[in-house]
Amino acid sequence: MQSTLAGRLTSIYLALNLVALAVVSVSVFFNLGPNGNRLAAITVSSSTLVFTASIFLIVVRRIIAPLETMTDFMQHANLRRLGARLDIATGDELEQLSRAINTMLQRLDASMQRIQRMSFVDTVTELPNRERFKQEADEVIKSAISTKGVGAAISIDIDRFLRVQNTLGKVIGEELLGLVTERLDAAVRASDRIVRLKNCETRPALLARMGGSEFAILIPDVEDPTGAGKFAQLVAASLRQPFELQHHRIVLGASCGIAVFPQDGESGDEIIRSAELAMTHARNAGGGRSMFFTRKLNQRALSKLILENEIRQGIEKNQFVPYFQPKVDLGTGRIVGCEALVRWNHPKYGMVSPARFIPAAEESGLIGPLGDVILRESARYAANWLLRGIALRVAVNVSTAQFSDDNFDHKVCTALKESGLPPSLFELEITESIAMSNPERVQRLLEPLRLKGVKIAIDDFGTGHSNLAALTSLPFDVFKIDQSFIHALGKDKHAPALIETIIAMAGGLNYETVAEGVETEEQAAFLRKRGATLGQGYLFGAPMAPEAFEAYAREWVQNGIQPPLPEKKNYHDNVQAAPAELSNQSKVA
Ligand code: C2E
Ligand code: MG
Ligand code: MG
Repeated sequence: MQSTLAGRLTSIYLALNLVALAVVSVSVFFNLGPNGNRLAAITVSSSTLVFTASIFLIVVRRIIAPLETMTDFMQHANLRRLGARLDIATGDELEQLSRAINTMLQRLDASMQRIQRMSFVDTVTELPNRERFKQEADEVIKSAISTKGVGAAISIDIDRFLRVQNTLGKVIGEELLGLVTERLDAAVRASDRIVRLKNCETRPALLARMGGSEFAILIPDVEDPTGAGKFAQLVAASLRQPFELQHHRIVLGASCGIAVFPQDGESGDEIIRSAELAMTHARNAGGGRSMFFTRKLNQRALSKLILENEIRQGIEKNQFVPYFQPKVDLGTGRIVGCEALVRWNHPKYGMVSPARFIPAAEESGLIGPLGDVILRESARYAANWLLRGIALRVAVNVSTAQFSDDNFDHKVCTALKESGLPPSLFELEITESIAMSNPERVQRLLEPLRLKGVKIAIDDFGTGHSNLAALTSLPFDVFKIDQSFIHALGKDKHAPALIETIIAMAGGLNYETVAEGVETEEQAAFLRKRGATLGQGYLFGAPMAPEAFEAYAREWVQNGIQPPLPEKKNYHDNVQAAPAELSNQSKVA
């Protein structure tokens, strides 16, 4: 059992009394003799008792009582009641200690209040923040459920805000947020008139900054959910009016997502998620519009999430593998290289084509690690073929994410070094649109690799608005003529002239040309006649699994002629129609 100070002092006091009594009894017995004066003995022992009792009372009053007050007080303070004051007036060190404790708690109280404020208020706009919005939404939804009421949460993203901030700087960005807040605030004050129940005493609408360029408005009660849509349009219209700031005229806009509660969310977290999901769709659809949350949106987001998770796991479990498609010298008819094309060896759906998963991999940022796997694996396969006497140049596709990675050139060098593949047998295919989006970066990132011997090809040439000046100055070696031109042969009367022009331009720049998607002898004959260097397409072989490709290429390399195309089932791109959840609407980049 825990002993208190008072308890311990009482024990000491009783012990002292016993000792005093013993001393007194012994002294009485010996000094006054067996027949001594009892009265004197009683007097001595009583006065000793009175003396120790008064000492004890003084100790209790001056030390124990203040200490007990202090203990009670600190227990209170421990329960975060920091506003209370400790009142001890003993005029000694204990009183000084109590004053010091009061000052300390006052400061602690002020800091706690500041921290509390900061955790619920956005410091830039002074608006309630996401946490506060969530709490308020929790309460408002609870009350809507109990009163069978309806309310709405509107998530707003300011279009172009980040671009303006990146151009004009953070200070102007913050001032702009202040002006945006004023407009939103005015809209919120007008919300009663526009969407809310009339003659009803309810909580005011709440405007909050959710982070970055995102705001949200919580309308606790709406007369009719469609009114929330109209209100969002008014909000967006007010933000479309130009902002004047430090001699700049800034035009923004807003993407709004509307979720109605309780149907679209029964808690703060849920309603925010629904409204933000709708807002993201409005933003992805080009911005400047409002969208209501629907179950379908939710389903789509969920499928995307499942797909992203599966891709992540697929990378960990080495389910992504390169397939190889031959590239043939149109002049000699010999195989000279191949293109690595990623396939997903999905445990449930079999081999899945990149069109099914590359858009999701790009959106989720997983294309970076996925591309790195294909880069390393392709170099490794090509190096092994070389050791077995098959020298073929392998080309690997480069995604936007890989191209934006400052470490990309290092990764290429590491893949080559680790595999032992000579750089001259390695090629990078970069789409025309990626190359033209940042020609300086092409120069900086790819020229050093090219100087080492790596070849650089522009993929899907003819589809990406090339800047002719950039084309001549950038470090390219190969134009890959987009397959749409080849497929148009015999169908579009302009196709031959377009292909001839590309081949002539490549010849003038001393570049190789690879015609993609060659499927017929007629197409191959036309390209051969016009001087295209290489051909790639089902006519020469579809993408194949590494082992099938090696067997196929060996025959070709050793005998110098194209072997009969393997049975379709052996080599063909056996992409199965993967079900909808593996499908993402967007096109392959
Ligand atoms: P791409 O780089 O232009 O690849 C050529 C595409 O055309 C391949 O589709 C190939 O299978 C297909 N193809 C080849 N010959 C023919 C033909 O004769 N007729 C027709 N109709 N099609 C033919 P695939 O493998 O589905 O790849 C599609 C796109 O996915 C590729 O276009 C490339 O942009 C991307 N991709 C593939 N693998 C990777 C990769 O490892 N990383 C990255 N970032 N992208 C990849
Ligand atoms: Mg390619
Ligand atoms: Mg291509």
